[in-house]
Amino acid sequence: MEVGSTGILSHYDVGVQYTSMSIELSRREAILGLTSLAFAPLGMARAPKANPVGWAVLGLGSYATNQIMPAFEHCSQSKLVALISGHPDKLVRFGDRYGIPATHRYTYDSMDAIRSNPDIDVVYVITPPATHPAFAIRAAGLGKHVCSEKPMAPTVDECRKMIRACSLAGTLLQIGYRCHYEAHNLRAIKACRSGELGKITSMRSDHGFNIGRGQWRTERALAGGGSMMDIGIYSLNALRYLSGEEPVEVVATITNPSDDPRFVDCEDTVDFKLTFPSGLVGHGTSGYSWIPGKNQFEVVGSKGTMVANPATAYGGDTLTIDGRVVAVEANNQWAAQMDHFSECVRSGKKPATPGEEGLTDIRIVQAIYESAKTGEPVRLG
Ligand code: NDP
Repeated sequence: MEVGSTGILSHYDVGVQYTSMSIELSRREAILGLTSLAFAPLGMARAPKANPVGWAVLGLGSYATNQIMPAFEHCSQSKLVALISGHPDKLVRFGDRYGIPATHRYTYDSMDAIRSNPDIDVVYVITPPATHPAFAIRAAGLGKHVCSEKPMAPTVDECRKMIRACSLAGTLLQIGYRCHYEAHNLRAIKACRSGELGKITSMRSDHGFNIGRGQWRTERALAGGGSMMDIGIYSLNALRYLSGEEPVEVVATITNPSDDPRFVDCEDTVDFKLTFPSGLVGHGTSGYSWIPGKNQFEVVGSKGTMVANPATAYGGDTLTIDGRVVAVEANNQWAAQMDHFSECVRSGKKPATPGEEGLTDIRIVQAIYESAKTGEPVRLG
């Protein structure tokens, strides 16, 4: 039995009865580190390392300040050491709150100086998606490892440029897919792979909420799209990590209310069907006008039905199999995500959610858009 470098056993423990379907998926599982059992440390309270990896957070918006920055307290191998923002007042406010010295506070204009700051190992880009490529490529060019939020970038081409920039710079790239490091989602993947649910016959995932007006999320130029790019990524990514397969065909429809000003520039509800190589079909939806919202997935197998609701929340994820709650010890998913990347920075190992993971999602999102536009299925190579 292999023990991860954190000393915590991976959730993908041994003795798993792999189904024929999951064996077919070895390439993706290898990318995700699933078969190597070196995946997703839990991020629970552990003794801090003497020299934690230094992180700079770039973009001090809602997710950075409410989820990411507070999570450093729960990290054992990652330390918040610098801030980068377009707003000097935020640098003062959050710099003072987190004890970041003035020498480690940067604006977008002055951030090139991070090159000569040895305390900074990683730049975590937490800005609107269309700005990820420029910030990520810049950070890599300054010799820093990069973590970029999801969705990785609006286009496949931009995703490739981000991967290439990090590769050329010799730095690592992680995409902030927090659910890959979250205990309930890891347990759900195990249930799918271990035979616990029997042969998987269908799966679906639905994510949506009711968006307010005037947000960048409804501006295509910044968001790259609408609900699919943002909350829909959770539905899509869940179907991929639960099945462990990559879709070969996509069929999709988009429904936009004609009289709603929020959807003049971006899509509201997306309904998509993914066909996987094994013949398994996954249904996904995303929406920006849903009251109430949805955050769930369901996997039907020959031995049982697994439901996660909420499935990918910030807290309170709940997993049931045939109506019985599955006991899962909750973890701090953000700390787990960051500590995993810090381990990769130390070891040089590719992260569990590398740039290729983000690129694959964007490739499928683009196929979803194309299918919705043409009304035809789109084959994926
Ligand atoms: P916010 O609008 O709250 O914050 C974005 C921040 O980005 C701004 O505060 C600003 O920081 C910076 N920024 C840089 N350039 C621009 C620009 N052109 N327009 C607007 N802001 C800019 O967004 P969120 O924090 O909600 O989302 C940020 C990223 O995180 C997105 O990619 C989103 O998809 C992702 N996200 C991921 C989640 C997850 O669960 N993984 C959850 C929520 C968001 P400053 O003022 O410091 O310059």
